[in-house]
Amino acid sequence: MYAEEYWQQYVHYNMDVQLDVVEKTVGGTSIIEYTNNSPDVLNHIHLHLYPNAFQKGSVKYREFKQNYGRRSRAEKFIKGFEDSFSRVDVHRFRITSNEIVLADTFIVDDTILSARLNEDLQPGQSLMIELNWTHHVGDQVERAGRVDDQYNMAQWYPKLVVYDEHGWHNLPFHSSGEFYGEFGTYDVTIELPAWYVLGATGEVTDGDPGWEAVRVDTSRDFEKWLEEYQENKSEVDSTLRRKVSFHAEKVHDFAWIASPTFLYESGSWNDIDVHVLFNEDNGESWTKEVVARSERALEWLSTKFGMYPYPQVTTTDRIRGGGMEYPMLVMNGSASEGLILHEIGHIWFYGILGNNEVTEAWLDEGFTTFQTRWYLMNRYGDHGFDLENTERYKRFQKKYWHFTNSLGNSQWSVINFQFSGRDEPISKKSYLFKGNSSYRYNAYTKPGVMLDELKYVLGDSLFIAAMQEYYDRWNLKHPNETRFKAAMEETSGEELDWFFDPWLHDTQVLDYGIKDWKRSQKSNGKWAVDVELVKHGTREMPQLLEVNLADGNKERIWWKNHHWRKKDTFSFQLSKKPVAIVLDPDVKTVDVDRRNNHSNGLPRKWMFRWPGMNWNHRDAYLQQWSPSLNYHELDGYMPGLWLSKSYGSWQRADLRINYGIESEEIYWDLRSTRTPVHRGTGLRYNFHAFAQGGLSGISWNMDKSWSHWNSSVPNHYSSLGFYSTTATDTSRTNLFEIGRVTMVFGKWTISSNDRSLALELATAPGSFSDWNFNRLTLIGKASRTIKGIKLRSRFIYGRMNHSTSSSVPGQELYTINGAGAFDTFLRPYLRDESSFYGNTTLRQHYHLTGDANLRGFFDTDLAGAQSLLGCTVEVIFNVPVTFINLEAALFTDMAYFPRSDNLNEIKGQRLSDAGIGLRTEKNMFGKELYLRLDFPLVTNDSRSGRKQEFQWVFSFERSI
Ligand SMILES: [Zn+2]
Repeated sequence: MYAEEYWQQYVHYNMDVQLDVVEKTVGGTSIIEYTNNSPDVLNHIHLHLYPNAFQKGSVKYREFKQNYGRRSRAEKFIKGFEDSFSRVDVHRFRITSNEIVLADTFIVDDTILSARLNEDLQPGQSLMIELNWTHHVGDQVERAGRVDDQYNMAQWYPKLVVYDEHGWHNLPFHSSGEFYGEFGTYDVTIELPAWYVLGATGEVTDGDPGWEAVRVDTSRDFEKWLEEYQENKSEVDSTLRRKVSFHAEKVHDFAWIASPTFLYESGSWNDIDVHVLFNEDNGESWTKEVVARSERALEWLSTKFGMYPYPQVTTTDRIRGGGMEYPMLVMNGSASEGLILHEIGHIWFYGILGNNEVTEAWLDEGFTTFQTRWYLMNRYGDHGFDLENTERYKRFQKKYWHFTNSLGNSQWSVINFQFSGRDEPISKKSYLFKGNSSYRYNAYTKPGVMLDELKYVLGDSLFIAAMQEYYDRWNLKHPNETRFKAAMEETSGEELDWFFDPWLHDTQVLDYGIKDWKRSQKSNGKWAVDVELVKHGTREMPQLLEVNLADGNKERIWWKNHHWRKKDTFSFQLSKKPVAIVLDPDVKTVDVDRRNNHSNGLPRKWMFRWPGMNWNHRDAYLQQWSPSLNYHELDGYMPGLWLSKSYGSWQRADLRINYGIESEEIYWDLRSTRTPVHRGTGLRYNFHAFAQGGLSGISWNMDKSWSHWNSSVPNHYSSLGFYSTTATDTSRTNLFEIGRVTMVFGKWTISSNDRSLALELATAPGSFSDWNFNRLTLIGKASRTIKGIKLRSRFIYGRMNHSTSSSVPGQELYTINGAGAFDTFLRPYLRDESSFYGNTTLRQHYHLTGDANLRGFFDTDLAGAQSLLGCTVEVIFNVPVTFINLEAALFTDMAYFPRSDNLNEIKGQRLSDAGIGLRTEKNMFGKELYLRLDFPLVTNDSRSGRKQEFQWVFSFERSI
């Protein structure tokens, strides 16, 4: 439907409001003229009172409490800071038409004000809504509110609910989802303290917004200018007020922002004014750059999609992170170019193309995500950000690191989401998504990469023509999925259901592969090629084949026989000899597994393993290397190499090799993980084998995890497998008794965000093992934060039994002071007394969390236990120091050993310790470093009075 059948309502707001910074209110009078352009008779009028959502008991509040919506917003609000509560009081209300009163009463339900009309509003008729109201402005929770002295006024006034072909959109303000408004005219007069500077949707028609008085002299050094400006700033007369009127046409919302510390800069593009307002404190990063970035955004969007229809754009500093779009005005939490492109892009996708953000968020978020990435890759190269000027990376990182293609990054994150077990179709109402991460993927990331695929399928010029047609048809109107699709199909002349339906209404995955190919030379000298294509996934897609020719050239050819085909043989002829073929050579589609896209195998890229570097190529195995150095007293320093090979989240293998110079032996450790692609979600196979001199081992297990979107509901993880260790010599590790242990195990963990319970059952079958025993272990953990103080606890119950002819070897017993033998052995620096680079004291004082976890007993030679009941409790406080991230802790570890067949010394005994500790954390070159220092001041041993002396242990890992 478009052109003659289409209609939309018209609304004209006249608002006269005052800002009271003492009472923290905005209020005044609204006179709203409303014209019914619909073919329907209306008997109600509905208004949004969005601020009412920020009250106890609101729909938003209740959804936040059930874990919907963005966590950071929800937490701030739910904690009940009275400051973050807002509401709108309506004092006087009247609806009239030609002097006849249609309504003077109303009801308010959550964020919707409704009034029943005494007389119907016929098609073509108008009415007038007059109301007096006061908005109590709370501290900013989501997009609007106070931030210190600054007022970010969005969704701030009684606003008409849209009536369209689906009827009234009188929905409450949910935890997730944005806005939908009627296009019209706004005449708004704002009166506020004179020392406030403000910006708003529309043009100034009367009064002074204060810009010239705070205009930055951009010909001068900013810091010097600011210093002088602040010195010369005169004391304000607190009784003075300013009054500014704004006029805006063809917009569906009106926002404004005011701050006492705003500075102003301006620019223009193509006669469109650019205003920039930022706070003095953020001036360093905003000055000049934001004007330039806003101008570039206007140019990019106008030339790619359609000309900006308004006289001005204002980019403002909302202080709080993130950003938000309004017609002609954006509020941004930083000067970031990506954020500016995203939010100004919204003036097109939401503002001009006024889709319903609540029901079809992808039509604005997806489009602006897509265009922002396109802009950034176009301007800065494939990595998609200003690498040269960014402060995120140090100079050596800029020089040596590799950065993943920005589109590739988004594709990987979509792939991981598609296989998370939580995928949903894109086209759902915002508040019906299973939680905030699903909303984010489906509103932003998935439609973003979908549009890149569409651009690829149609080709750049046809895609741009189709987007411009969409803009021409629907600018200053309400587009939707059908209207967008029609513009794409009619411009391209292609039927595109096969493309849109799987993305928008299903959760199909894309994976094409080359199964085999043949080439043969014909008598005329040409080469005939047959390529066997297989669709491994569920979604269909034409394929662009790139053929490498023997002479070094490449040729590209489309296969478009994709409808309903699971496999196909694609035959074509070439004039030169082909040597290799690749599908989707520029990686423009979300083909989830590109290992099968190459006739000659996925390419490999070797590179040094820089700590923290996260290069994740879509079209190559990543092969990394770095040196390693272990230590053992029999060999001294043992140089080595750590090699790894990985492809996304589908496979990874790590091989660590060290050479013993004295022993002339090679010690190695190989671990690999594979995720089968099309066999359900959450499945993984792990393999581990090692030979470390005197000890060798092998293990295999299969993991399966399944999770729920809601973190307060348990997630599950299960594992089934076996391991076998064979110790032949104790000279290289003191952790194992001579002999072979083979265990078959099953493990099941249930966890939510603050609790977990793990049950492990293991058995050593006598025929494969020198010992014959069974083990049951139950470990529970819980954490809580109360007023910034963290409480952490862990309990363990463990029990083993063995056949009468057997016992349990030392390496499989529950260790008294920390982790068991195998966990300890996995850290090369803990393998033996000397392995901490020769420092036996540090080795002895190292505490690795696990088993009975009695850290105060690190210096005893208690061998281990066959059964135990233990617990650890920690209380952790933040220590407010500026130069380091420091925490202090009080801890206690306790264990009771009810029965111990092999160790009479602790049978029936209780051991405990308590003390204080310090923890610090630092991000070094992208890697999280953690250091824990604990002082077990008291150790209690029910067998004897253990001597008290000053003791310490340290660790690179948390104690729970
Ligand atoms: Zn957005």
